[in-house]
Amino acid sequence: MEKKKILLIYTGGTIGMIQDAASGSLKPFDFKTLFQNIPELQRFPIDIDVHTDFKPIDSSDVTPKLWIDLAQLIKEKYNQYFGFVILHGTDTMAYTASALSFMLENLSKPIVFTGSQLPIGMLRTDGKENLITAIQIAADSDKNSNPILQEVAIYFEYKLFRGNRTLKYSANHFDAMQSPNYPILAEAGVEIEYNTNALHKPQKSTHLEISTHLNTDILVLHLFPGISESIIQEQVGSFKGKAIIIRTYGSGNAPTAPWFLALLKTLIQKNIIIVDVTQCIQGKVEMGLYETSKYLKEIGVIGAYDMTFEAAITKLIFLLGKNLPYKETITLFESNLRGEVSI
Ligand code: ASP
Repeated sequence: MEKKKILLIYTGGTIGMIQDAASGSLKPFDFKTLFQNIPELQRFPIDIDVHTDFKPIDSSDVTPKLWIDLAQLIKEKYNQYFGFVILHGTDTMAYTASALSFMLENLSKPIVFTGSQLPIGMLRTDGKENLITAIQIAADSDKNSNPILQEVAIYFEYKLFRGNRTLKYSANHFDAMQSPNYPILAEAGVEIEYNTNALHKPQKSTHLEISTHLNTDILVLHLFPGISESIIQEQVGSFKGKAIIIRTYGSGNAPTAPWFLALLKTLIQKNIIIVDVTQCIQGKVEMGLYETSKYLKEIGVIGAYDMTFEAAITKLIFLLGKNLPYKETITLFESNLRGEVSI
């Protein structure tokens, strides 16, 4: 039987670091020598090709250009590989995974992101297990030889998460990722146990389409008690972009001060999309549950429901890139496009 082929794409992050034997300092690992450095990979009954053309970066330097390059690479290699593993820094991994989930339409192959908290070249690294199991997941098939995973996911510290439901919640724990509003897709113990009910089941059509027009003309306004009217008026009053995300409290609540509501109303009248995303990492925006969100709904603010902030902003970047009429953009934002929201 022909061996399955997996494409391992290296973009940077902590996982790609190794300790220099002489100086002890961390330096980027040459992924061309991956098999010498992680000989365990040779024991896989899988062909692993390594793509090292991207300049390795700390993921804090990620821009939508990387998302476009990744989408184009996946499209180009789609028919040659059974699945894809993307090594990425953990800091913005959830953004890239969310963005790609929207940009890759009709995806029916595994795209597994992973990284690590400690460099792969360190003794206590979490990178080796993350990498080995991510490859295993990208190659796992069901009894009909179809990939088990047919969506964008993040594998981290024994858990597989839906990419657009995930956030980085710890800067120093090995289990740095969470998907607070969606069940994990699989857990890796002695066996990899898939949560079949939670996995995305794609439509019959498997022709991958990619969107490469993105628009980041978005402002994020994080509320806090005592937020200053003059500063907000200055920052938002003359806003020329397309959308504003308000990081609200609890189930989507915001101050009811007349100046604040009047400002939002003026922005909406200018066809600026205003989205309500809670500061809570778990639970959902329910506009109208409290008086303090009822007004927002009445003036036309859109609730992100239980989307992560990462999913909400990348969904906006993706939708604004389509340059659709205002109402259509809102309708799509409020729809469940890739399993990113529980509606
Ligand atoms: N700063 C690193 C990055 O996101 C952290 C990591 O990879 O975990 O690229």
